[in-house]
Amino acid sequence: MSVKKDFLIVGGGLAGLTAAIHLLKAGVPVTIIEKNSYPQHKVCGEYISNEVLPYLNMLGVTLDQLPVTQLRRFQFSPSQGRQILTDLPLGGIGISRYLLDECLYQHALALGCQVIQDKVTHISYASNAFHVELAHHAPLTASLVIAAHGKRDQLDERLSRPFFYKRSPWLAVKAHYKVAFPDDLIGLYTFNGGYCGVSKVENDVVNICYLTSYSSFRKYKNIKEHRAAILYENPQLREIFEKATMINEQPLTISQISFLNKRKVEQHVLMIGDSGGLIHPLCGNGMAMAIHSAKLCAETVISYHSGTMSRAQMEKRYTSLWKQHFGKRMLMGRILSTLLHQQRLTATLTRFLSVFPSVLRFIIRQTHGKKPIFTG
Ligand SMILES: Cc1cc2nc3c(=O)[nH]c(=O)nc-3n(C[C@H](O)[C@H](O)[C@H](O)COP(=O)(O)OP(=O)(O)OC[C@H]3O[C@@H](n4cnc5c(N)ncnc54)[C@H](O)[C@@H]3O)c2cc1C
Repeated sequence: MSVKKDFLIVGGGLAGLTAAIHLLKAGVPVTIIEKNSYPQHKVCGEYISNEVLPYLNMLGVTLDQLPVTQLRRFQFSPSQGRQILTDLPLGGIGISRYLLDECLYQHALALGCQVIQDKVTHISYASNAFHVELAHHAPLTASLVIAAHGKRDQLDERLSRPFFYKRSPWLAVKAHYKVAFPDDLIGLYTFNGGYCGVSKVENDVVNICYLTSYSSFRKYKNIKEHRAAILYENPQLREIFEKATMINEQPLTISQISFLNKRKVEQHVLMIGDSGGLIHPLCGNGMAMAIHSAKLCAETVISYHSGTMSRAQMEKRYTSLWKQHFGKRMLMGRILSTLLHQQRLTATLTRFLSVFPSVLRFIIRQTHGKKPIFTG
């Protein structure tokens, strides 16, 4: 026997919670199914671009009332060559995912969101309805499903999404530290096979998060050995790590991080946030895109809910909005990542940027939204 729901959101991270809040504020009831409890630490650089703040404010989520850090400057520090410093065109804030996701979750609950803690194991669609299977609860039926389950999950395999079957060479490591670091700075440090972001979050805590190739990592016994042999090739990064005291018991790690193209609608399920596509973390725009894609999706779903759009129109419109807003940023992310993973190209890029530092600002603009998200 299945339980009937109207609109379901799979995954209560940034994208899922934002979509839920938007829909609830428009009077559309939704249920979130989230496999983990709140709050949780997540592997993330934890810099969020200011472009989404007006939209979050409109939803009633006022992050600037939390003890966040204002980030205004960006420093590119290659393992060899000069460091290059520039202003962040729109600026951003440093906030841990532990605090940010919890804040959105409490907001969604206050608006009456129903949250089921369980793992979605399968979604199928027939006769204009979805059948959603859960690991521990009875299956649900729904008229609409939004998937916000992040980068990669067994669910992608059950939905036969092509990216799931291609192995990704990337893994990421993140932890919080106590170490002296400028309040308003994001540092991006390159090393052979990867790059590392360093910036402050709330309470004077420094987040250090890096992406590295699995081929570089597997030559070493553990994170510590890999760090000493590879990351410490960058003298600035070495100095930070050597002075830092880790706050978490263990660093968090994730692997199989895929930057391949993903379809925005899969078997009539609307894909938002990382489940619709993940931009390279070096762009620092994944969280803003997750929130922005939730907005685009929620607005389209509201039209469908009010009867002014058919399901086919809704799917087409969401897909085209996604490409219009994020297509160029995704491409720029791929180009930059390719450059930074080849030491010789990184050296050429660094030499070029030290002669023309304004180009760095231009590059940052290409990987972010051009202006704060319009809230109308
Ligand atoms: C190394 C690294 C560094 C990054 N740094 C930055 C940065 O500095 N700035 C930035 O803007 N972006 C950054 N990003 C990108 C950013 O973290 C993501 O784009 C963002 O988290 C996407 O949010 P989301 O809601 O789509 O996914 P998530 O936040 O991952 O949420 C997905 C949720 O779905 C749940 N879930 C998964 N499967 C199921 C299931 N089957 N059933 C029920 N629930 C499920 C999960 O538990 C999770 O809570 C980084 C990414 C990486 C990998």
